[in-house]
Order: sequence, then C-alpha cells, then structure tokens
Amino acid sequence: MSMRISTEVLVVGGGPAGSAAAFWAAQSGRMVVLLEKDVMPRDRVCGDAVTPKAVGHLAEMGIDVADKRFHKHRGLRMTAHGQSIELRWPTDHDHPSHGLIIRRNTFDKLLIDHAANEGAQVWTGVEVLQPIVEHGHLRGCQALGSGEGSGPEGTIEVRAKFVIIADGPLSPFGRALGTARTRRYAQGVAMRGYFPSAKHNEDIIESVFDLRDGNGHQLPGYGWVFPVGDGTVNTGVGLLSHHHGNDPSSIQQLFEQWLMQIPENWEIDISNPEMSPKSGRLPMGASVRPRSGPNWLVVGDAAGSVNPFNGDGIEPALTNGKLAASVTNTAIKTGDGLELRLYEQELASRYDHYYRLGRLATKALGKPGLMRRFTLLGIQSRVLTELVMRISTNLVNNDAGGTESVYEIGKAVARLIPERD
Ligand SMILES: Cc1cc2nc3c(=O)[nH]c(=O)nc-3n(C[C@H](O)[C@H](O)[C@H](O)COP(=O)(O)OP(=O)(O)OC[C@H]3O[C@@H](n4cnc5c(N)ncnc54)[C@H](O)[C@@H]3O)c2cc1C
Repeated sequence: MSMRISTEVLVVGGGPAGSAAAFWAAQSGRMVVLLEKDVMPRDRVCGDAVTPKAVGHLAEMGIDVADKRFHKHRGLRMTAHGQSIELRWPTDHDHPSHGLIIRRNTFDKLLIDHAANEGAQVWTGVEVLQPIVEHGHLRGCQALGSGEGSGPEGTIEVRAKFVIIADGPLSPFGRALGTARTRRYAQGVAMRGYFPSAKHNEDIIESVFDLRDGNGHQLPGYGWVFPVGDGTVNTGVGLLSHHHGNDPSSIQQLFEQWLMQIPENWEIDISNPEMSPKSGRLPMGASVRPRSGPNWLVVGDAAGSVNPFNGDGIEPALTNGKLAASVTNTAIKTGDGLELRLYEQELASRYDHYYRLGRLATKALGKPGLMRRFTLLGIQSRVLTELVMRISTNLVNNDAGGTESVYEIGKAVARLIPERD
C-alpha cells in the first residue's frame, strides 16, 4: 500500500525529545504527525535516571510523577578513592527535590502515548527513509510502515510545513540535511546492564569516580548504580571519548572491570544479568550544528544536547522539544518562518555558556592525572562535592549556598579560555 498525507508539523523520532515536541505542538493546537520506527514499548540503552529538573518538566507536561511504576531517588552518593559523600537533592529550588528511575521501555511509551492523547498523530513501526527536498527546500519525508505498530503498512509520503528532527544520536535524517557533529568536542560512550540486587529499593543513586585503565590510570568517566525498585539495579560505566583520547571499543572491557568493582553494599548478583549489556553514544555539549534550517529544527541527541557534565540527556531532550514546538507554533501562527531563528537564540542563551564550561571541564578531565587530582580534592570536601552536584545537574539557580556565584565566575572564566584542540 502507498499513501500520502500532509500536516503542519512532522516529528521524526519518538524518544523523549520527539514526544515532548509532539506533545507541546499538539497542545498549542497544531496538526502534528510523529513517526517512530520502533514499536513501543521497546528497550533503549540508558541509565534510566531522570533528574529533578527533568521531573519538573514531566510535571509541567501533566504527567503523574508520583506514578507507582517510577522509583524515586532523593539524593546522590559520590564515591572516589574509597570515600563517599551522600547528598540530598536541593530543596531550595524551583524544581522537585527528587529524581526518578524509570526504565526506558516504560518511559518512552508513556511519553509517546501522552503526545498521542494530546492530539498528535503518532505512528509507530514507521521508519523514515529520507527527506523530500524540492528546490532546496525541505517538504517532508518518505517513510516505510511495517504495519506492526500504530502506523500503516507500506510506503508513506508525509508533506509538512515544518519538521522537527528527533532521531537520536546518529541522526540519519539530520545528517541528510547537512548537520554534523564537531569532533573537537568530547563525546560520551556508555554501557549498562540490569542485575538483581537486595538494595533495589534504595532512595539514593550512586556515582563512583574510580574507573581505571589497564595501567591503573584514572579515566575521565564514572560507574553508576541506579536502583530501579523492581528487584534490579541499572548499573553501568560512562567514559569521555576524546578524538585523541580513549578508544570507545574498550567500553565492554571497562564494564566487565566495573562489575568486579561495584560497591558491595548494593548486594548485586552479577552472575545473573537480566539481559546482555548494551552500549551507546552520548553526543554532548551542543556538538551538532546547525540546529536549524529554514523550516526544520533539530532536538535532543540529534542536536548533540547531552549535558557534558554528567551525561544527562533526558532533561535537555525535553527542553529542546518544548522550545522547538513553541517557535514552530509561533512561525505557523504568524506565517513568518524566520521565527525559527529564536530556537538557536534561546538555546544559546540557556545552554551555551553552561555547555562551554562543561566542554572545558571534560577536556581538562581528559588530561592524564587531572581526573585523579580533581576527585581526590573533591571527595574530601562536602562543600565542593555539593557544588559539583548542583552544577552538573544544572540546579544552580536560587540556591542559598552561593553556588550560583561560583558558577557565574566559572562561566566568565570559560568565556576567556579559547577552545582549541
Ligand atoms: C548507556 C547510556 C546511559 C544513559 N543514561 C542516561 C541517564 O541515566 N539519564 C539521562 O538523562 N540520560 C542518559 N543517557 C542519554 C539519553 O539516553 C539520551 O540523551 C536520550 O535518550 C535522548 O533522547 P532523544 O529523544 O533525543 O533520542 P532517543 O532516545 O535516541 O530517541 C530517538 C528516537 O528516534 C527513533 N528513530 C531513529 N531513526 C529513525 C527513523 N529513521 N525513523 C523513525 N524513527 C527513528 C529511534 O527509534 C528513537 O526512538 C544515557 C545514554 C546512554 C547511551
């Protein structure tokens, strides 16, 4: 079967970024079609940690963040050099004072259904094959439906006024339109697995900064244990992979090493993995450009939006999606496509200095010896650890502890440092 449809807004990809974009665009009254190649629910490699800031976005979208399927965490334990500091998520803030752990099969289905309930036409099991470009202008896409999800079977042509590209870290659709990831910036690579644990119900997540290479040198990355509350924990390792740095293929080896090193208090049965571990890439620090064209916008991992401080990609994906929907709505209402320029401007004002600081931090931590010195210093000071926690989770506003001032100084210094190889 072959069909052709038209819409105001086409969203390519139904992860958190695409679903948020579709939800907000539908909420503002736009006609939206979202195409997702997978059939939900499906697994997506992730640590499953939703930060307090992201929980705030979910609540704003009308999602019940007290849903019993979500496991609440109230703080973070940072461990390095055999010492640990436990911190609660800040309460002196606009955002909720807890985060969540939600398996991505549950989370992504919930978000995509939420967009559909708001009025978006959501077709799962439909793979976008290529953009339709006529006279240099993007007109929509060609797609193929398997007939196994909510979408039709056969070839589909979707014509759209505006396109929001949310097709994840490899972003084939974005690349076909000319987006590219700068290799000057670090990219993350991470691997995770699920294991049974007697402590699956803990209300704290743990990050361990003691990853070492075969020669015993400390690596720029961390191991995590995130309790899922369903009898298992999600545990994994994430590493910065600089263009001149670490070999991403070593992530499997590092993961295996990490399993032997997980703090014993989690009582994890590593002999009994729930499934084979999976790895993925985290394009970070606004490393993909351009993020917009005359009638298209790129969001989430496709835009390289992962937070370079901690690998959190869900919160930026939700924010990007909302912002993209908002400027698209204005462009349609006013009939002025130039409104899309506000997307770049708004991203720049919200994230650019923060991410620049993050990129410099990741670059510095990639230098031999610096990661070790930094973690040694940090783990001995509760104040410094709290500062790192607030900055890395982007919870710096409104706090009483003066983090915002330190952060502003950091951003100002970062602006003065040229970003070279
Ligand atoms: C090991 C690991 C651990 C992580 N842990 C965390 C964490 O704990 N917390 C956190 O906040 N972030 C974490 N991240 C990052 C987070 O997973 C991503 O940043 C987030 O998923 C980005 O959302 P997205 O919607 O932009 O992309 P995705 O979630 O990748 O969604 C893209 C969607 O597009 C669809 N798609 C792709 N191509 C097509 C096509 N041609 N046609 C139709 N559909 C298509 C895909 O099927 C997919 O559903 C982790 C990442 C990794 C790899």
